[in-house]
Amino acid sequence: MSNMVIDKNKPVLVTGATGYVAGWIVKRLLEEGITVHAAVRNPDDHSKIKHLEQLAANLPGTLRFFKADLLQENSFEAAMAGCDIVFHTASPFTLDVKDPEKELVEPAKLGTRNVLNTANKVSSVKRVVLTSSCAAIYGDNADCENIPGGVFTEKDWNTTSTVQTKAYSYSKTVAEKEAWDISNKQSNWRLVVVNPSLVLGPGINPQATSESFKIFQQMGNGKMKTGVPHLGMGVVDVRDLAEAHFRAAYLPDASGRHIVSGHNTSFPQIAASLLPKFSAYPIPRRTIPKALVWLFAPLVDKTITRTFVSRNMGWDWHADNSKSIQALGITYRPLEASTQDMFQQMIDSGAFLPKS
Ligand code: NAP
Repeated sequence: MSNMVIDKNKPVLVTGATGYVAGWIVKRLLEEGITVHAAVRNPDDHSKIKHLEQLAANLPGTLRFFKADLLQENSFEAAMAGCDIVFHTASPFTLDVKDPEKELVEPAKLGTRNVLNTANKVSSVKRVVLTSSCAAIYGDNADCENIPGGVFTEKDWNTTSTVQTKAYSYSKTVAEKEAWDISNKQSNWRLVVVNPSLVLGPGINPQATSESFKIFQQMGNGKMKTGVPHLGMGVVDVRDLAEAHFRAAYLPDASGRHIVSGHNTSFPQIAASLLPKFSAYPIPRRTIPKALVWLFAPLVDKTITRTFVSRNMGWDWHADNSKSIQALGITYRPLEASTQDMFQQMIDSGAFLPKS
């Protein structure tokens, strides 16, 4: 796309720069010669930032680290000073929490408020690109019954998740709503939202802690070797997602929400995409009947409730990604490219062994 307008004299801010998704966004920006202000919780923790330093050493752009926490008011001020674009990616993505309100909802919602209130004070900011999620579009796969054609679009909002039932999805929904509320009260900057489905593909940092890695690891560590349920879902490659953020920032006409999802797929299809290359590993080869999962899964894993099974397993998932293709010009790579590259990276970093 040639109509992007990039002012390389202005730095940009990436919040949560240590993250899986942010790593590829930082890389894309540095490739372009842009100065990136990387906001991280602890810039002194070298183990969390060394992959970014290595990137910067080999790319034309400049990288500067700033200390900031979503829950500390005004803590993004120094990092945002002089920036024309803010990429707000920071938000906890984990399903294993004890106190979902404190661990997920507060950092997502209050963090978004904190970052955007700072954007209101920093007059150089012209655009905020928010990493929301398809989790802010739908709650359960069964929600497709209540929408026209059963296909999720940017018009849809997650109305079914609660902090008790699906706290992560709820956290992303309230955070995106908060962003639109703040954005609609001002005219200095434009909010452009990216709504990815499940992100797969290799990490810039192979030791990434994103839930994406935990979910995907189960494909090769034997935990699912007896099979997987039919669970429809969307998948997008992390590299395509970084490109979507980049274009959302620099295409002058980009606006509103964007479903960024390469494939309407499912757990069994994700597993099948690995088999041609990695058949030596204990990858799930069978689809487990829903009734069996409903009966036994809650006994084995407390995070899988029978309501979750009923409203998600056995359901296909369809979202319309045409706005991302038309307005942002995204070309999605094949599912195998994401799953196989990620699996290979996990093998290389010793995450799992071939089946004995
Ligand atoms: P990730 O690797 O866990 O990244 C999350 C980032 O948020 C980390 O940099 C983390 O910093 C930061 N963070 C968390 N709590 C913070 C706090 N209190 N203050 C400052 N920073 C904080 O996960 P990810 O997959 O890259 O997710 C990035 C974004 O994409 C999130 O907004 C997520 O909701 C969204 N998303 C992800 C997916 C997916 O499948 N991965 C799908 C849709 C949307 P630390 O390194 O210090 O913990």
